Amino acid sequence: MASGPTLLMRLVASAYSIAQKAGAIVRRVIAEGDLGIVEKTCATDLQTRADRLAQLSICSSLARKFPKLTIIGEELVVWVDPLDGTKEYTEGLLDNVTVLIGIAYEGKAIAGVINQPYYNYQAGPDAVLGRTIWGVLGLGAFGFQLKEVPAGKHIITTTRSHSNKLVTDCVAAMNPDHVLRVGGAGNKIIQLIEGKASAYVFASPGCKKWDTCAPEVILHAVGGKLTDIHGNALQYNREVKHMNSAGVLATLRNHDYYASRVPESVRNALVP
Ligand code: AMP
Ligand code: MG
Ligand code: MG
Repeated sequence: MASGPTLLMRLVASAYSIAQKAGAIVRRVIAEGDLGIVEKTCATDLQTRADRLAQLSICSSLARKFPKLTIIGEELVVWVDPLDGTKEYTEGLLDNVTVLIGIAYEGKAIAGVINQPYYNYQAGPDAVLGRTIWGVLGLGAFGFQLKEVPAGKHIITTTRSHSNKLVTDCVAAMNPDHVLRVGGAGNKIIQLIEGKASAYVFASPGCKKWDTCAPEVILHAVGGKLTDIHGNALQYNREVKHMNSAGVLATLRNHDYYASRVPESVRNALVP
């Protein structure tokens, strides 16, 4: 990297505190009670005041601390999802929500920060809410305890609010012992690294590069794998299409097993 590893570590350290600040905004909007919901493309594609305020906060902080980021932007690209799991946020499923900041170098996701604003919310009114998970490829991932699903168990996690026949056909083909339906790409990757699910299966377009960049790094840093439904790696360069058109398949272990079970009909329907 032309600017050296120092720039990357400064960027990761800033992303950590910037994501925490965005997480606090996400909590504040709920506390104030006015969600300001706007439909983007349809009733399941929403934006709230928290999405807008967190986006503004993240982008202005990044621009202030790294004014040259756009100049080096061709090599280093930051993918931001100020609020992942907006549909669930509007329905009060607050622990599904995350703030995602992913950093890519020459098209490869290399560093990521996930803030979970409502982590610990079941612990009662005095609990300190929120945590930040972060990772850098080749260094590791921090802020959680790595745990695996018991060997041989196939626990599939998938979308709660963006399902369709392709999604359900693909999940059924995985021979699942159990299926979890939860919101958020960040939240589902947290399930993989904390031993709650063995595979995140989403056989549909809908998920974007800002949903997968930071989660992919955290997963890859602990030996897992995130690809499209065909098993192809995702690219994160500046010019890339935002939509993950060929879906998402993510696992902590045994990626080949899950990739091999994707039905031909699903593979044919999802073009990268
Ligand atoms: P989900 O698992 O449904 O929470 O989706 C993970 C991420 O992808 C969220 O940021 C969703 O907003 C996004 N997403 C997935 N499917 C769609 C869709 N059909 N329309 C809009 N966004 C979607
Ligand atoms: Mg999202
Ligand atoms: Mg979002």
